[in-house]
Amino acid sequence: MYLTVRDATKIYGNFTALDRVSIGIDQGEFVCLLGPSGCGKTTLLRLIAGLTDLDGGEITLEGADLSQLPARKRGFGIVFQSYSLFPNMTVAENIGYGLKIRGAAKTEISVRVAELLELVKLPQVADKMPGQLSGGQQQRIALARAIAVDPRVLLLDEPLSALDAKVRATLRDEIRQVQRELGIPTLMVTHDQEEALALADKIICMNHGVVVQAGTPEDLYHRPATRFVAEFMGISNLLSPEEVDRLFPNLLATRPASGKPQLACIRPEQINIAKSVDGAATVRSISFLGNLRRLEVESPVGMLTVETHGTNPCRAGERVRLHVSPEACTWVDDDGALAEGVPT
Ligand code: ATP
Repeated sequence: MYLTVRDATKIYGNFTALDRVSIGIDQGEFVCLLGPSGCGKTTLLRLIAGLTDLDGGEITLEGADLSQLPARKRGFGIVFQSYSLFPNMTVAENIGYGLKIRGAAKTEISVRVAELLELVKLPQVADKMPGQLSGGQQQRIALARAIAVDPRVLLLDEPLSALDAKVRATLRDEIRQVQRELGIPTLMVTHDQEEALALADKIICMNHGVVVQAGTPEDLYHRPATRFVAEFMGISNLLSPEEVDRLFPNLLATRPASGKPQLACIRPEQINIAKSVDGAATVRSISFLGNLRRLEVESPVGMLTVETHGTNPCRAGERVRLHVSPEACTWVDDDGALAEGVPT
């Protein structure tokens, strides 16, 4: 691993904000720290940046201990949630600031600033003041400023959360493109699962100051380890073994031997639905979402959410038959942690 955090612990008074958290970032990797508000994401990012001190554990970069190194000597680039540009400097001065501090020559700075403005697709704004730019433009400049000094790691703390949905989606793709092009190992904090799924090579899902699961977006979505991850990573139908036995007995054989309480996690798009007059379930409501339909279906064990792309859609009130194939079901540990702060 390029950057390693081992057993990081942070305690505020008698509150443990981070409890022996271990994570790693590889060369060129884009990692998202994902979790509900207050789970410790920003605290972990600030520890890595050197803006907060560790109470236990260690952080190493290419094997070298960082704990005694002040933030400005770590060589990391940081973009915060709020636009943190210097308001009294032009865009060009903002981007070139880090290079100027390092004593770079004026011509070198202006060449680099021009390159970075091209990279973030804002070649015309060099002489503007930050206050003259939109929120999305300011975050692009903040990104350019962070990468101007060739950071060893890029740290992004919810850089998109203050932006409206459309700008957010565009900028999200641009950040990913810039990161790929430059290959800078990047850690981004977000509480938005869709953002994490779209951007990350690896997602680290946290709750209550601990890492609950780390893996690829596909792993976390299709193979969540616990109920919390299943619920946090999107819509899921969670059924007890007794409910599975009544509804989809073909899935029972997939249940692994485990001493722990378990639930079957079935994503809405994994349920096949077919009209059937003698079906045991009834469609109660339908939402048309453009590319798919989301149905609330009343089954003998309660309501299920089903998503279809079908061209022959069911109607509310119709009876239906439901089927799930064994490979579409994942058994998760019931950690009882109904995800608070789950994005809706
Ligand atoms: P959000 O998405 O809301 O920013 P987060 O996951 O980034 O949440 P943190 O900001 O890391 O959460 O905070 C984790 C916990 O530590 C919270 O309960 C917070 O109240 C607490 N905390 C953070 N900083 C301090 C501090 N300086 N003093 C006391 N408690 C703190």
